[in-house]
Amino acid sequence: MPERVALVRCAEYDPTQVEAAVRRSVELLGGMEAFVQPGQRVLLKPNLVRAAPPEKAISTHPTVVAAVAKLVREVGGQPFIAESPGGPYTAGILRASYRKTGMAQAAEESGAELNFDTRAVQVSHPEAKVLYRLDLIQPAVEADVIINLPKLKTHNLSALTLAVKNLYGLVPGTIKISYHAKLQQRELFCQGLVDLLTYVKPALQIMDAVVGMEGEGPSGGDPRPIGAILASPSALAMDIVAAALVGFDPLDVLTTRVAVERGLTSGRLEDVELVGDSLEELRVPDFRKGIEAELDPGLVPRFLRRLLRMESSAEGDARGRGLFRALSSGWVWKQLVAMPYATEKCVGCGYCAENCPVQAIQIVDGRARMDGRTCIRCYCCHELCPYSAIELRRPLLGRLLMGR
Ligand code: SF4
Ligand code: SF4
Repeated sequence: MPERVALVRCAEYDPTQVEAAVRRSVELLGGMEAFVQPGQRVLLKPNLVRAAPPEKAISTHPTVVAAVAKLVREVGGQPFIAESPGGPYTAGILRASYRKTGMAQAAEESGAELNFDTRAVQVSHPEAKVLYRLDLIQPAVEADVIINLPKLKTHNLSALTLAVKNLYGLVPGTIKISYHAKLQQRELFCQGLVDLLTYVKPALQIMDAVVGMEGEGPSGGDPRPIGAILASPSALAMDIVAAALVGFDPLDVLTTRVAVERGLTSGRLEDVELVGDSLEELRVPDFRKGIEAELDPGLVPRFLRRLLRMESSAEGDARGRGLFRALSSGWVWKQLVAMPYATEKCVGCGYCAENCPVQAIQIVDGRARMDGRTCIRCYCCHELCPYSAIELRRPLLGRLLMGR
C-alpha cells in the first residue's frame, strides 16, 4: 500500500494559521488519535542544531512544535520536547538552546515538558547495516511514541536534511562526533542514519516547511519561504515529497538513495499517496542547493559525475561504488569537494575545534585553521560555528571542473 503524505499550505508563522495547517495535515492521516493513545509519553523531536533564534530558519519553528503538542494533549497524550543539539549534551546547553530557539515558550504555551534528562543508553540493532550498537538519548528509548519534527533545509552531506536526517539529534552530544569519525564516507554515514530510522521508527513526522533554508544549510544558508506543512507516518515518503517540493530529484537525497538500495522505499514520487494541497502549486522554483549538492556538470566526464553525484548507485553498480570509494578516500576527492575555511568573522572561540571528529582544527593567532589533509569534510564545524564564521570553498581543480 502506498505511503501517505499530507501536504498543506501554510504561508506564515502566525500561530492560528500554523495550528490550522498542522491540524489539517494530521486529520488527513486519520487524526492524532491514530498515533497517540491517552496517557502515552510522546517525544517531540524538533531540529535544534544550535542555539539560534527562529527567524534564522535553522531550527524547527516553535509555533509548529506548540501546535503539535496541543494536538497530542487533546487526545490525552503527554508531550515532551527532547533533542540533543550539536556540541555537548548537558542541561545547561539544553536550557540555552530551548530559550534561544523558542522551545521554552512553545512548551509554556502548549503544556509540553522540556527534557533535561541527559542520560544516554546503548542499544543493540541486529538488523543494522553499520550501527549494530546504537547510542541514543535515554528519553528516546523510554518514550511510548516519537513524533519527528524536521525542518526543510539544505545539507552538504546529504543534499537536504529532512525527516530521516533529523533523527541524528537522538544520538547524544559528542557521540555524534565519534559517528562522523567512524563513518567518514558519506554513503556510510547515511547508512547509519537509515539504521537510526529503522531502530527508532517514529510514528509520525510533521515537517516545518513554512520557511526553509537554501544555500549553505543546515545552519549557514538563507531562509527561504516555502509555505507548507507536511505530515506522514513514513519518514522516507515524506523525504521524497519534500525533495520534490523544492525541485530536487528525491534520489539526490543520499539517505533516500541508501534506503532505496536497502529495499525500504522505491524512492519514486509516483509511489507516494499525496493528499491535501497541490504539490505543483506549492513547488518552489530555483531553490538554491548547497555547494556540495550543486554539482554543475561543467567539464566533469559523465562517469565521474555519476559517481560523485550518486556515491551509491540505486542500480547497484558495485564497480562504480568501488571506484567512488577509492576516489573518496584519496587525493582526487579532496581536490573536488569543498573545504571549510574560517573567515574574518572567526573570534577564535575554539568550539569548532572541540567538535571536529578528527582534530583537524587548530586555533592559530585567534582564528581557526583547518588542516585539509586530515579534514574528512563532514562540515560539523560549518554547522556548529555560533558566529557563522566558516565558509565552504571548493579547491581550484574542483572549481574548474564543477564551478563555484
Ligand atoms: S570558526 Fe567559529 S567556532 Fe571556530 S573558532 Fe572561529 S568563531 Fe569559533
Ligand atoms: S575541519 Fe570541519 S569539516 Fe573538516 S573534519 Fe573537522 S569538523 Fe569536519
